[in-house]
Amino acid sequence: MKAVSYESKHKMAVGSHPKPELKSATDALLRVTTSGICGSDLHMYDGRTGLDKGTVVGHEIMGIIEEVGEGVSSIRPGDRVVLPFNIACGSCFNCHQGNTHACLTMNPESAGAAYGYAGMGPYQGGQAEYVLVPFADFNCLKLPGKEGDEWEDDFLLLSDVFPTGYHAAELANVKPGKTVAIFGAGPVGLLAAHSAMLKGASEVYVVDSIPERLQKAEEFGAIPVDVNDGDPVDQIFALRKKNRPIQESRRPGEEKMAGVDCVIDAVGYQARDDNAPSQEKPMQVLENCLRLVNPTGHVGIIGVYLAPDPGAKDKESKQGVFSFPVAKLFDKALTVGSGQAPVKRYNEYLRDLIVNGRAKPSKIVSHHISIDAAPEAYDKFDKRIDGYTKVLIRFGESKKSKASAA
Ligand SMILES: [Zn+2]
Ligand SMILES: [Zn+2]
Repeated sequence: MKAVSYESKHKMAVGSHPKPELKSATDALLRVTTSGICGSDLHMYDGRTGLDKGTVVGHEIMGIIEEVGEGVSSIRPGDRVVLPFNIACGSCFNCHQGNTHACLTMNPESAGAAYGYAGMGPYQGGQAEYVLVPFADFNCLKLPGKEGDEWEDDFLLLSDVFPTGYHAAELANVKPGKTVAIFGAGPVGLLAAHSAMLKGASEVYVVDSIPERLQKAEEFGAIPVDVNDGDPVDQIFALRKKNRPIQESRRPGEEKMAGVDCVIDAVGYQARDDNAPSQEKPMQVLENCLRLVNPTGHVGIIGVYLAPDPGAKDKESKQGVFSFPVAKLFDKALTVGSGQAPVKRYNEYLRDLIVNGRAKPSKIVSHHISIDAAPEAYDKFDKRIDGYTKVLIRFGESKKSKASAA
């Protein structure tokens, strides 16, 4: 079968790999119909993880079940399913608590496993024609409709970025009426904005520097903030000040609440310096978050922080150790949430919002490609050029490369 593998820094390859076979009675074999290229795949592409050469990548996967082991009872061949990027056993302590992002048994190295990702266990990725699904009853989400229908893109985004964006809003304690700022308008940041709107936030600001991304943020009803126009935190302070009805209803002391209730870091450790965008400054976004959030507010960290990082500047940052204003955190009495999303906690409900027309995550999708175009798409997505917001690989009948400027 054809699959995308990591070769070396800035080099992905499309090659022939053995088609997976069932290894256990609880496995299923999935024929992939659509697979996403994720912003977090770029950390591997950039040589910023300890990934082995030749690893088949891809953790955003949907398709049609081709074969099931004799121990699988609720999923049948022919079923249309999407997989949470977290691979979970369903029977350990954390899985029982709904914390499938920290499953204790699937990854021999740490808590939490995923398809085709550095440090997340020995699982083949899904930027491939077929993928093996462990514990298929637990890990497959059944979908209505047919392969390639109008929901195909929306459903694919249930594998990671939509539940991840929603989880960011949960981590930041977004509730009806709250004010929210999101740093980073990549796919996760945009769907965190969509989720914040679904959760009833009163104001949602989205900070980025790429025009296409800021435009998508506006399409979801958020207020775009362009880093090129100056300090993004000062811009949001100024925008909030202009909201006269809100300002006129203030009581004394509320000038200390000039920021927002909820902030989300949807950038992670490859953040850029606001004053020198060509340079990385890993703590830039978290520093902005702490300046902007109101006292007693919430910080949701959904952007990835990874170690080891062979591309980092010094010994400490190679291990993911950075200097961070803890006193500010304590002084403002903030609550911080972080980590990967437990996709299974949300994916059924988010699927039903899609089916009932209340959510449309696929607005973020910019390109559909064939698997052969994947190496080039990684390059363009990495360089943030040609409007590459979110790229989906289509398998099966429509193998022709097609760029749809959605
Ligand atoms: Zn992803
Ligand atoms: Zn488990």
